[in-house]
Amino acid sequence: MALPEAPPIEREAPPLERWVPVPAQIPPEHLLTSSAAEYIRRPQPEFQEKSFQTGPIKLVHAFWLAGMSCDGCSIAAVGATSPSVEDLLTGRLPGLPKVVLHHPVLSVEAGHEFVLNFELAEEGKLEAPYVVIYEGSIADERISGRTGGYWSGLGAREINGEPQPIPTAEWLQRLAPGAAAVIAVGTCATWGGIPAAIGNPTGSMSVMDLLGADYRSDLGLPVVNIPGCSPIGDNFTETIAAVLLFLNGMGPLPEFDALGRPAWLFNQTVHQQCVRAGYYEEGTFAKHYGDKECLVEIGCWGPVVQCNITSRGAINHMGGCMNTGGVCIGCTMPGFPDAFSPFYKKPPGTLFSSTASRGYGAVIRRLRRVTQTYMNREPQWPGDIPSGWGHIPEPGLGKRFLHYFYEKWKDVGSTEKAPEESWRVKR
Ligand code: SF4
Repeated sequence: MALPEAPPIEREAPPLERWVPVPAQIPPEHLLTSSAAEYIRRPQPEFQEKSFQTGPIKLVHAFWLAGMSCDGCSIAAVGATSPSVEDLLTGRLPGLPKVVLHHPVLSVEAGHEFVLNFELAEEGKLEAPYVVIYEGSIADERISGRTGGYWSGLGAREINGEPQPIPTAEWLQRLAPGAAAVIAVGTCATWGGIPAAIGNPTGSMSVMDLLGADYRSDLGLPVVNIPGCSPIGDNFTETIAAVLLFLNGMGPLPEFDALGRPAWLFNQTVHQQCVRAGYYEEGTFAKHYGDKECLVEIGCWGPVVQCNITSRGAINHMGGCMNTGGVCIGCTMPGFPDAFSPFYKKPPGTLFSSTASRGYGAVIRRLRRVTQTYMNREPQWPGDIPSGWGHIPEPGLGKRFLHYFYEKWKDVGSTEKAPEESWRVKR
């Protein structure tokens, strides 16, 4: 049986409007808002020049610019947990203003509407402070300009009737003077990193190099540097949170070291916090990748590198180079990668340091094993240990003799004497 013919479908498209009206049934708090669109709708107040004061603020804009970057810093930042990017964007942390993030990949705005935010910031029309975050190193756009090209761009403008990308380096120069803070995230932005390694065909440089040693933000801060390749996401979000607390008048100006690193995060070496530092101290070293001991003899630079990866972990306190078997290759340090190459050759300093700890550790670790054997015994276990799992013989005469003096020494100066019939006497 033939099917009845379907009625014709009305296909007239609804008219397109630049700003799509918001359906009334969506509560305002659930809308993805565009700050540029909001700005256009609002009545325009008179703006005053330079404005900056710390004090109660509800909102801060964060402009994310990317130069010669692999986007690893963005990935690290979105993996942060203490605090998370979501915590910052929703303003749910007490004392912190809400952050409006303008990120070329993560923002919901696109095209001119996205770029308009940057223009408004430059013109001082945002009615809120802003910070600039730069990821990646900054290529020398004069080199690319010789052939009419560009290295890293965001947005476009017309030149000779043709749209031409605007270099992110130019955006940085335009936005930096009015920013509350300029934050270089990742080793490429902080020191130049891999694009600035020997050869450097793009003339790559750091944010500090581009803005100069005399640069100060609207708040009076030099460039803040959060190095790492990639940086620890929590280091980035925690520094942002500390700066925002200060901006909001709720906390002191965070402490930075002479290179602009957050001092509380970078003033210790990897080695001082390393999970393998005990092996180093006892003079036992890995010979192959996958061994559990200290990695210094297969290329670890941890004793001189300033980084908190071993104590903080990579994401959510998990992972991190030495925690998972990787040697430290100095990725947070100025001069990386050239200064730490070749990566898998042991650093020259180990000739002295690991040789010394090998000699000292050989004695210390044997003495410790003696004490360890005794500390694995209970008072009521004289003689052999009655374990169902194995046979643990009573320590020999030499070890008992040694430990007799150890016990005596341990009690010297103690106000309470051990009772005559104590477990120590029995053993
Ligand atoms: Fe130090 Fe590296 Fe050895 Fe860890 S693995 S203890 S950081 S030398």
